[in-house]
Amino acid sequence: MRIAAGLIFAGVVSLCATGTAWSQTPAPKGAAAPQAAAPVAVPAPARAAAPAAAKMPCANPNALGIARVVEIDTTGGPGFGFEHFKQLDFLREKEVVLTFDDGPWPLNTPSVLKTLADECTTGIFFPIGKHATYYPEILKQVAAAGHTIGAHTWSHATLTNKKLTEDQRKEEIEKGFSAVKWALGAPPSPFFRFPALQHPPEMVTYLGTRNVAIFSCDLDSFDFKASKPQTVIDSVMKKLDKLGKGIVLMHDFQKHTAEALPDLLHKLKDAGYKVVQMKAKAPVQTIAQYDEEILKDAKLRQAILHVSARSRRPDRARPAFPRGPAELATAKADYPDEDSWRDRIGPFQSQGYIVEPGRCVIRGGVRTCRRAFRHRCCYRRT
Ligand SMILES: [Zn+2]
Repeated sequence: MRIAAGLIFAGVVSLCATGTAWSQTPAPKGAAAPQAAAPVAVPAPARAAAPAAAKMPCANPNALGIARVVEIDTTGGPGFGFEHFKQLDFLREKEVVLTFDDGPWPLNTPSVLKTLADECTTGIFFPIGKHATYYPEILKQVAAAGHTIGAHTWSHATLTNKKLTEDQRKEEIEKGFSAVKWALGAPPSPFFRFPALQHPPEMVTYLGTRNVAIFSCDLDSFDFKASKPQTVIDSVMKKLDKLGKGIVLMHDFQKHTAEALPDLLHKLKDAGYKVVQMKAKAPVQTIAQYDEEILKDAKLRQAILHVSARSRRPDRARPAFPRGPAELATAKADYPDEDSWRDRIGPFQSQGYIVEPGRCVIRGGVRTCRRAFRHRCCYRRT
């Protein structure tokens, strides 16, 4: 049934996974019984959804809206998304959960937020810890809009990488949560997604002990490979039409996704799909050691910005351009992968610089970009 109000709470369902021990390795015999047990869907008081509803008045009578809210008890670290976890299936036909990875990021994340707000609907965001420390204000906007926020590691390291020790893998997970907590000023949901959906069995088990739910997906939009927005739309709709429902993986980090989202949401509505909101019963319990590390990093960053601000002209509320190699052109080849490049440019972008492909040149006293193979440059917003 479609109702004109758009924002519909058809009740809150509590999905209780208590006692479920999740692992990709064969489970010990003692854990077999609770694993095999079907999830128990228990109606919970509708009042649990009220604050989000109050925050999101819907002005769009044709909005996609929210069909229902599912509340997750993450005890034991349940896994969701049929690409890896097949035990829990709470979605009904034509129901979708929208998920967005790798933010927060300037322009793209705010654009995704606007589209979701226009459609009075919601998603789960899995931010990268480092990005959360670059753009805490953007992540706060995600929270303020009532979306669910989990975590996606500290630096987007692939946790199946054999070069990482077990402690380093745990640090990636825990520091990711602590960074998101630092950015928000409150702990996020105990919802986690592995980078590249690479699930090392021992970390799946670890998340179980931490009572953190693991999110794979039912369908991957592969939006990071899309050459244009239409490809994202076609990919999602085609896979959804085949599966009939599912947890959809997208990236608020990606420009094409942000551009595709308005049309994609219209198409979902036209095809009769409904959005399910997933919430956690309780927030994640971060570990003090990692909270402190994030705090130290943040203080260091503040100190660096302070030094930079000293050279600012007092009448200009913008920082001086960074000195050194980053000031002018920086060879992309210096950064072996996309993540280390993002780490490099992130702090500059957070200070209001635009980063574009090309080599930085000064023409008539104005800093600008000249296209050059394998180069990007930072220049000041004017
Ligand atoms: Zn990712």
